[in-house]
Amino acid sequence: MKELIKNLAAYQAEEPAELVKKRYGLKELARLSANESVYGPSPLAVQALQAVDPAVLNYYPDGQATALRQAVAQVGKVPLESLIFGDGADELIELLTRTILTPGSEMIVPQPTFGEYAIHAQIEAAKTIQVPIDAQSGQVDFDALLAAVTDQTALIFLANPNNPTGVLEKVADIRAFLDKLPSKVILVVDEAYYEFANNPAATCAPLVEQYDNLVVLRTLSKAYGLANLRVGYGIVPAQLFDILQAVRLPYNLSTYQITGGAAAVADQPYLQKVVQQVSQERQDFEICLTKLGLTFYPSATNFIWVKVGDAESVGQKLLEKGYQINAHLNPAWVRITLGTPTQNRAMQEILGQILAK
Ligand SMILES: *Cc1c(COP(=O)(O)O)cnc(C)c1O
Repeated sequence: MKELIKNLAAYQAEEPAELVKKRYGLKELARLSANESVYGPSPLAVQALQAVDPAVLNYYPDGQATALRQAVAQVGKVPLESLIFGDGADELIELLTRTILTPGSEMIVPQPTFGEYAIHAQIEAAKTIQVPIDAQSGQVDFDALLAAVTDQTALIFLANPNNPTGVLEKVADIRAFLDKLPSKVILVVDEAYYEFANNPAATCAPLVEQYDNLVVLRTLSKAYGLANLRVGYGIVPAQLFDILQAVRLPYNLSTYQITGGAAAVADQPYLQKVVQQVSQERQDFEICLTKLGLTFYPSATNFIWVKVGDAESVGQKLLEKGYQINAHLNPAWVRITLGTPTQNRAMQEILGQILAK
């Protein structure tokens, strides 16, 4: 076995809801701990999934995911031959680390950020350098990121908007950072929550053509409401396309993923409705948090990172009332995924009661 992964801790996947409900004697459990969508996918995506002919089942799927490729290229205005698909963005994170990191090389990430990056770096026997965000604003400290670059640096992951903070960085700032970054260092901008920013210009995708060390990741798991379908994609520069295609597993997406994913991406009006609803809920929630005197970073996503003091205890109190949030990421901060309007009002009330004590 690889020596360095003997103590690797598995990614903390969500506990099945039935188990949690049973433990706390709950009739309902609102799972607001994994940034999933409470609105679900486009009905057109569901229809497309149901219409897949079972006669395809004994044949391998389209290894190039052509239908999905065309849908994403058209909506995203990116070239067909810049797209790499994965079994969720997670598979692309794995693919990138597997391709780029060598033993002893270094990967830089902001701290805090999505935990998957460091897990995969460890598997590749690479070193993860964590650069703290600016505590006041929650923004990435680009000067500190740049200062952390060494001869060994091979890869930088930047989730934008970031998870768990929800903070969105300006494309102009990322561009300025790229201009100073040695071209041998690959910058991956993980735009898992891009759609929630509700600003078509908040993406680095158009920069991929200009910077051959830039990769942009997206997923259908969050705003598109398809976490269970497992579809992610990368917009990659020409210099990486062939090698990533060669390293990736040949039939990584099934016909269901390809067909359902293509239909979801094509239904932009549905996505827009979800994004509008989430923006409204986010605004209301932030107003409530301000009234409660709580510290939080302005979010551009479907979740809010908020300082509650004792995260564990607040998480436990919400869970006992049927609201599962993520209280395991930091001792003082919790990450609350926005729920339905009713769920959000209820959580706001519970938070108010907890803090009044
Ligand atoms: C949820 C999330 C992902 C994973 O998405 P999948 O497509 O479901 O694998 C990737 N990056 C970030 C920052 C996330 O929060």
